[in-house]
Amino acid sequence: MSPADPPPDRLAPRDVLAACLHLIFPTPCPVCAGRLDLDRVSDLCGRCWTRLERMPTEGCARCGWPFPSSAAAGGTEAPLCQRCRETRDHFRLARAALRYRDEGIARAAILLAKHGRRLPLLRELGRLLAEEAPTYLSLREWDGVVPVPLHWARRWRRGFNQAAVLARAVGGRHGLPVLARALTRLRATPLQQGDFDARRRNVRDAFGVATEAGLAGRRLLLVDDVFTTGATADACAETLLRAGAAEVGVLTLARVE
Ligand SMILES: [Zn+2]
Ligand SMILES: [Zn+2]
Repeated sequence: MSPADPPPDRLAPRDVLAACLHLIFPTPCPVCAGRLDLDRVSDLCGRCWTRLERMPTEGCARCGWPFPSSAAAGGTEAPLCQRCRETRDHFRLARAALRYRDEGIARAAILLAKHGRRLPLLRELGRLLAEEAPTYLSLREWDGVVPVPLHWARRWRRGFNQAAVLARAVGGRHGLPVLARALTRLRATPLQQGDFDARRRNVRDAFGVATEAGLAGRRLLLVDDVFTTGATADACAETLLRAGAAEVGVLTLARVE
C-alpha cells in the first residue's frame, strides 16, 4: 500500500463481533449509561442523540463563533469575533453543526466514534452534518468537498479517516463531488496542542496536493470532524489556494468551545 493509495473504510472483525454480542448481552448507552431503547441511533440512546448540542446559527461572520447575545453585530453587517480580528485565515468562512464542550454529549459521541472506532456511529454523525449543514452555510456556493487527510499510518491503524466519512456524507447528500485525494499529509504531525500559533507551526508544510486535477478555480469546502483553533483548516486552505483553488470554506462536525 502506498501513502497515496489508502484502503477503503472497513469494519474491523471486532466491530462485527461486538454487534453480535450486543444482541445476546445488551450493553448500556456508552454516554449516559441508560438503556439503549428503540430510539437508539447506532451506539447512542435516543435521548442522548436528540440532546447533541447544536451550534447557534448567528455568530462571527468568518468562523461562526457564537457571540454573547448583547454583543452581537455591534452595528456591522459582518461582525468578527476576537479570534478572527486577530488571525489572518486562508479560509473564507468556517461553520460547525455541534458544540464540542467538556462533559458534552457531542464530544463524547465524537471521541467514541473516532477513538472507539465506531464507524456506524460516525456515519450517523455524518448524516446529521449533511442534513443540518444548510442551516449554517449555502452548499450552492461550493463546487466540491475535500476531507482533511490523515497520515496514512494513522488511517491504517484506525481503519478510516473520519473527515473522509463526513465529507462523503455531505457530498452525497448535496450532489457535490468529493475530492478525497486532493490533499495529502506529507508527514505525521505530533498531536495538536496549544494555541493557534503553536498548532499552526505544528502543521507547517504538513499538507500537500496529491493531484491538482479539479482544484483550479474551484470553490472548495474543506471537511473535518472538529475545529479547535482553526490551525489545521488554515494550513489545508493555504495548500488548496496555492494549488489554484478560488476559495476555501470549512465545514466541521463540531467546534471546540
Ligand atoms: Zn445515552
Ligand atoms: Zn470568528
